[in-house]
Amino acid sequence: MRPIRRLALLQLVLPAALGAQSPVPAPVRAIDWPAIEREGVTLLREYLRVNSTNPPGNELTAARFLRDFLAKEGIEAQILDTTELGTGRANLYARVKGNGSKRAIALVHHMDVVPATASTWTAPPFSGELRDGYVYGRGALDMKGEGIAQLMAVVALKRGGVPLTRDLVIIANADEELGSTGALTFADKHADLLRDVEFLFTEGGSNSVRNDTLRFRGVGVSEKRTFWQRLTVRGIPSHGSRPTKHNPVPRLVAALDRLARHETPLHVTPGVDRFFRDISRDYPGERGRWLQNVTEALKDPRAREWILSDVYWNAILRNTISLTGLQGSNKTNVIPPEASADVDVRLLPDQDPDSVLATLKAVVADTAVTFTPLIVPKPPFESPTATDFFRAVERVSQERDPKAFVTSSMLPAATDRPMYRRLGIHVYGLDPFRTNDVEFQRGVHGNDERISVVNFLAGVRFLYDVLRYVQ
Ligand SMILES: [Zn+2]
Repeated sequence: MRPIRRLALLQLVLPAALGAQSPVPAPVRAIDWPAIEREGVTLLREYLRVNSTNPPGNELTAARFLRDFLAKEGIEAQILDTTELGTGRANLYARVKGNGSKRAIALVHHMDVVPATASTWTAPPFSGELRDGYVYGRGALDMKGEGIAQLMAVVALKRGGVPLTRDLVIIANADEELGSTGALTFADKHADLLRDVEFLFTEGGSNSVRNDTLRFRGVGVSEKRTFWQRLTVRGIPSHGSRPTKHNPVPRLVAALDRLARHETPLHVTPGVDRFFRDISRDYPGERGRWLQNVTEALKDPRAREWILSDVYWNAILRNTISLTGLQGSNKTNVIPPEASADVDVRLLPDQDPDSVLATLKAVVADTAVTFTPLIVPKPPFESPTATDFFRAVERVSQERDPKAFVTSSMLPAATDRPMYRRLGIHVYGLDPFRTNDVEFQRGVHGNDERISVVNFLAGVRFLYDVLRYVQ
C-alpha cells in the first residue's frame, strides 16, 4: 500500500511544479482514498464471481451487478438491448454530468470473459480469490479489472466533487470476446447517447513492463481489420488409385503456394510512424537511426531485414496473410469433389478491402479458385495523437514514470473500438495497469489470470488523474 500513499503526496506537489500547464480541477471535498481502495478491491472480487463466460455470456447478471453498485453512488444506469442481444444478455449505460462546456468522454469495458478450465488453475477461476496480494479470476486483466478501475475512478471524482467540464459516460458491453454484438448493437441503436462524446477509451493499450519497470505506455490508436477468406476449388471425385486431372487438391495447393510466397507491400501509417520514432530512443546507434525514419529505413535491405524479423513490427507494417485451415478428402484413397483453405488476412486500417481482394485473386491467378469472405471487415479505426486525451495520458504518465514514454500503438488483432470510431469519436485503447509483460502474456485468456492489488489500485489513481487532466 505504501507506494499509493507516495503518489498522493506527488499529486499535491506536482501541479505547482508544472506551473506552465493548464490548471487541473481539484476535489472540493477530501476523498477518502482508503475507502475507495477497500471498496474497489471488494467490488472487483465480487464482479469476478459473476460468471460471464462467453458463450453464453450471461452479461445481464453482470450489468445488474454494475447497475446496483452505481445506484448506491447516486449514478443511475440503464440496462439496454436485452431484446436484441437475446436471453441473459445486455449492455449497460450511465452518465455523470459535467458542466457541458466541453464534449463528453466515454469509459468502455466488456463484461464477458473467455472460458476457463478450472482444473488448470490454482484458484477457482470464478472465486475472486485474494492470495499473496493478487486477485485471481477470469477477467482480472481482460477486462473486468479495467472496468472496475474505470468505475472507481469515476466514483472518486464524484465523491470529491471534482468540477467536470465533460460528462463522463460509462458503457459496459456484451459479447466482445465472440461476436462483438454488444458494441455493434450499442453503436447502431444508441448513436444519440454518444452524439456529444469526443473521446472514448477501452482495452487495446499495450504497455511494455519488464521487471516492474515501465518502458513505455502504448495508447492504442489503431488496429488491423480482420478479412478472413475461404478459397475453394471444385473437381470430380474418384478413386485415389487412378489419378486424374480433375483432382481439386493439387490445384488448391498450387494456388496456396503462390499466396504463401506473395510479399504484401510495406506501408507506414501515421500512428506506426510515431511508434517507431518513439521507441528509437531504446535502440543505440544504427538501429536507433533506422527507427527514427522507418519509411526510409525500409528501403535499405539490411534495415528492412532487421525490422521485419520482429513479428509484431512486421504485422503493423503491412497487410498479412496466414494460411491456416485446410480441407481436402477425409479418406486417403478418395479424390474429393472439393478442396478448401481458410486464410487469415489482416488489413492495415487504411486499406480498401475490395482492392486487396482483387490483388489476392491476381496473385492466385486461377479462376477455378473461388474466394468467399468469412467475415465482414469492421470499419477502419485510426485515431489522432494530437488530442487533449492523448496529452492527458502523456502528462499523467510523465508524473509517475518520468523515464518511460507514451507512444501510439497498433493492435494486430481486433477489438470493439472500430464500431465506436465509425461514429466519429476519437477512440483509444488504454491500459491503466503496469502488468509485467510475462504476467500479461500468461494470464490473458490463459490460466491463473490475476492482478496485483497494488497494480489495480495504482490503475484507479491513474484513471482518476487522466479524467481530471482531460477536463
Ligand atoms: Zn478483452
